[in-house]
Amino acid sequence: MIFGCIDSGRPLQSLALHRFTRVNFMKYVGLRWLLAAGLGLTITMLRAAEPLPAPLAPPRVVLKTAQNDGRMLRIPPTRDLARARTSNINIRYLEAGEINIFNDVCVGWPEDAKAAFSYAAQIWASLIEVPVPITINACWANMSPANILGHGGASLFFRDFQGASIASTFYPVALANAMAGVDLYPGEDEIVIAYNALQPWYLGTDGNCPLGRYDFVSVILHEICHGLGFLGSWDYDNGVGGWGLGAYPIVYDRFIVNGPGQYLLNTDLFFNPSQALGSQLTGGNIYFSGQHAAAANGGVAPSIYAPATWSGGSSLSHLGEEFRGTINSLMVFSFADGYSIHDPGPITMGLLQDIGWSTTTTPVPMMGINGSVNPVTISTSDPLVMEVAMDPGGSAGRQKDWWAVADTPLGLFYYQAGPNQWFASGSPELISLHPAYQGPLEALARITILYMPPNSLPAGSYQFYFGVDERNGA
Ligand SMILES: [Zn+2]
Repeated sequence: MIFGCIDSGRPLQSLALHRFTRVNFMKYVGLRWLLAAGLGLTITMLRAAEPLPAPLAPPRVVLKTAQNDGRMLRIPPTRDLARARTSNINIRYLEAGEINIFNDVCVGWPEDAKAAFSYAAQIWASLIEVPVPITINACWANMSPANILGHGGASLFFRDFQGASIASTFYPVALANAMAGVDLYPGEDEIVIAYNALQPWYLGTDGNCPLGRYDFVSVILHEICHGLGFLGSWDYDNGVGGWGLGAYPIVYDRFIVNGPGQYLLNTDLFFNPSQALGSQLTGGNIYFSGQHAAAANGGVAPSIYAPATWSGGSSLSHLGEEFRGTINSLMVFSFADGYSIHDPGPITMGLLQDIGWSTTTTPVPMMGINGSVNPVTISTSDPLVMEVAMDPGGSAGRQKDWWAVADTPLGLFYYQAGPNQWFASGSPELISLHPAYQGPLEALARITILYMPPNSLPAGSYQFYFGVDERNGA
């Protein structure tokens, strides 16, 4: 018997094969796996909003090319893309001859570049809750200088709308819409991105980007992240630093501190604009102080790119160079050929949470049998190994159950995380409803929960299930 989902305790009850003996386990021919979880979102109503005054050009950030360091960094997506609600992130491909708000003149999109773009949007849809649809205004353009991969940002900023978490603070419109629960400015695309058609792109979605080419999916992920709010209003001119869209900061700016932990927005410390602020912006000692970003960085505020020579579009709107080549490298200021980074990494996800995004609440349980995530057939003379891992998503710390169940020719067996053992259905050792674990959900690194030595199981069909659900009775 196969069932598609372990959303509550009940479906398992239908597998009423009871055995009252504890056994050593099984042998098998066919194996199956499945994933299960829950989902949620929050809606609030809009009352008032103020867009960025028209004369101010929205800030834009750029992504530059970098020299490959001889490595082929490969970071795959971490979430289950098949479950992403992709309908909430849409792409408007500008036609040849159209001009975007950054004055890029578009040349028309190749089809394989569009496919890569859809894939990148799907990755973001798997990572954040998008209660109000986002449209990305996308331009494929011949750009200069030659080291520009692309640039992007938000089309509009809003402040003091219903649902804004911090007063007197501008939010990029995609985030403002999500917080308000409505489209604050219907008819306007939320994110504007342009890519340099002159670059040697790798347009595949499999991450196998060769040296000499730039992985387009990675670069799209990077630019979308800026449009979601990973960007500041900081500026610098001839030694004088300043901030603000008009008189107000962008929400990202609120978290920027220096080494001693002084907020750069604190005008008692740093007048706006001033040379004192300019020294800070080029001092190489800038950090993002949000609690989620810090939690993802071992409890320490992650560094922000602040080179000694101000670099417009790069300085203050990227992670520090210490993260280059790590799982957090998507948002460093430049991108090397031969790399593919299809996940933003925990620090950037924490940063997005700090500025107000809800990351997907859906935990992602992952399961492998003898190293395969697909049904496998093995011999009775092979060992049987079951591995599981859990990405808790936005459900980290929430009360949950998770399950590991084996349906075998010898009957039904439940894994118990405490004693780290399997028990036959009906065994007195099983706790009620037979979850393997109840309590605050935590990340599970890849762990082996079943190892059966060779020649210890009869031939037959074995099905394995690993799922997570709301904690029963909690
Ligand atoms: Zn960037």
